[in-house]
Amino acid sequence: MFQYSSQYLRKLRNEIPIDTVITNLLKMEVHKTTGRLRFRCPTCGNYHTAVNPQTNLARCFDCKKNFNPIDLVMAVSGCSFMDAVQYLEKNAS
Ligand SMILES: [Zn+2]
Repeated sequence: MFQYSSQYLRKLRNEIPIDTVITNLLKMEVHKTTGRLRFRCPTCGNYHTAVNPQTNLARCFDCKKNFNPIDLVMAVSGCSFMDAVQYLEKNAS
């Protein structure tokens, strides 16, 4: 089976802005209040969330969980890690 290098995966995680993944790719439900993007957590369904452009992670404070772009695709669509990587490859370039 084809394996992605960890370097490539890191690039994929870091170079696709997390807010682009949330709003443009996955078209998740979001609240925008005072300029801050809050997304509907795919795990608990609450909006007690934030995105951090510095780390390129999305966080749910209720679940106490961070999502990178790959995690988010997996959580929203219920797909496998490999599928999420291929989805990002296809849609983000
Ligand atoms: Zn949550």
